Amino acid sequence: MDLSIIVPLYNEAESLLHLAEWIDRVMREHGLSYEVVMVDDGSKDGSWQVIEDLHAANPAYRGIKFRRNYGKSAALNTGFAAAQGDVVITMDADLQDSPDEVPELRRMIVDDGYDLVSGWKKKRYDSKLAKNIPSKLFNATTRHLSGIHLHDFNCGLKAYRRDVVKSIEVYGEMHRYIPVIAKWAGFSKIGEKVVQHRKREFGVTKFGMNRFLNGYLDLMSIMFMSRFGKQPMHFFGAIGSLSFLLGFVALVLVLALRICGRIALTNSVWFYLSMLFLVMGTMLFLAGFIGELVCRNSPTRNQYLIEKEL
Ligand code: UDP
Ligand code: MG
Repeated sequence: MDLSIIVPLYNEAESLLHLAEWIDRVMREHGLSYEVVMVDDGSKDGSWQVIEDLHAANPAYRGIKFRRNYGKSAALNTGFAAAQGDVVITMDADLQDSPDEVPELRRMIVDDGYDLVSGWKKKRYDSKLAKNIPSKLFNATTRHLSGIHLHDFNCGLKAYRRDVVKSIEVYGEMHRYIPVIAKWAGFSKIGEKVVQHRKREFGVTKFGMNRFLNGYLDLMSIMFMSRFGKQPMHFFGAIGSLSFLLGFVALVLVLALRICGRIALTNSVWFYLSMLFLVMGTMLFLAGFIGELVCRNSPTRNQYLIEKEL
């Protein structure tokens, strides 16, 4: 099978038929064999009924329904596990992403050898204040921290080599950082294609302003995890040592001053600083040890991603 198209959706009943017709048309024109995996993330608006009808008419349409709304990341992750095609495409259900882009995205994976190609909504049709400006800032930060040169990390339209989706796990709200997760898993050939973006025709956006705060917090987690996820002591131990050292220097100073008879111990600011830093250093080391214990018991502690085997 050439293609798996994964569509995460939450309350998008009105869009689904239009989307399916459009996908069918493009696939027919390009003679591609495909499946569409629609992951219904707990919709309450009859989306599932539409998916059942689509499946009945054409078994290339598969459906997976969640018991409740788990979020876009969980929907994508489930779709990744189910996908059977050589190239996997993800796209939003709301008709903001155009299926016309799919053949070229696939070509970039198959012919140009990319592991992952991300769409870039160069001209966006979302509200400026709520999305465009904050998202520029967000993309610049992510680009800088991850070293991946993409303009639009969170574009719903992306293409992957099959291996990539079978090797990564997306959870929480980490769908914003799939390129970062993929790079971390060793898939470094990441490309970008400018894609058409359209206005939302039906339904409403599912993400509010809290996406930005959460987005930044997730970015910090993911950068921390990629650097220190398997060796937390390298992080906590390093700042713990620094803190201990500062505490020690302050302690020597306060003792020297005391021995010279110049001050009473508790009158010196150095006394309090030395206590503070020594206690902080100890706490950081303890955090490091607990982190190591957690890692040691993690089932993935020895998971290396094998590329080839004979
Ligand atoms: N979505 C989902 N689960 C959620 C929220 C959103 O599956 O909890 C889907 C949604 O139906 C759409 C895609 O994720 O297909 C992108 O969502 P949306 O269009 O609301 O985001 P925006 O385009 O406003 O960034
Ligand atoms: Mg949308």
